[in-house]
Amino acid sequence: MKRQRQVAAAFSQNEIDELARQWQRELKIMDWQIGVRIVRGKRLGGDDGGVNFEEKRREAFIMLLDPRDVAKDRMTPYDMEVTLVHELLHCALACFTGKVLGGHEDITQEQQIHTMSQTLVRLRRAGLPTAEAAA
Ligand SMILES: [Zn+2]
Repeated sequence: MKRQRQVAAAFSQNEIDELARQWQRELKIMDWQIGVRIVRGKRLGGDDGGVNFEEKRREAFIMLLDPRDVAKDRMTPYDMEVTLVHELLHCALACFTGKVLGGHEDITQEQQIHTMSQTLVRLRRAGLPTAEAAA
């Protein structure tokens, strides 16, 4: 895990693949086929991450911002694991995704996913047992 001022937590592609596997197990979405790639900033248009998913086929592709492209003037540090969990939660909650982009359902879901991803990563880093360890 490398650190710099605007980056709270950064990981290599191999580390992210392992974290994705662990979090899929934690969130009980192991039946999804999910690819995760670290991509350059221009592909994300200023976002920390993004996901394209097909709920019926349980397939998803997650993109995470390459830490080299983190904006110098951002308000809060970029945490790749929080963004990974955020995008995985979009998969887990796919059936609740609002039909209207930017509508009330979408905005509320986005806010809650944002909060939950931060909370889950914080609790995990605090050393609470994982679902794997508790099973
Ligand atoms: Zn989101």
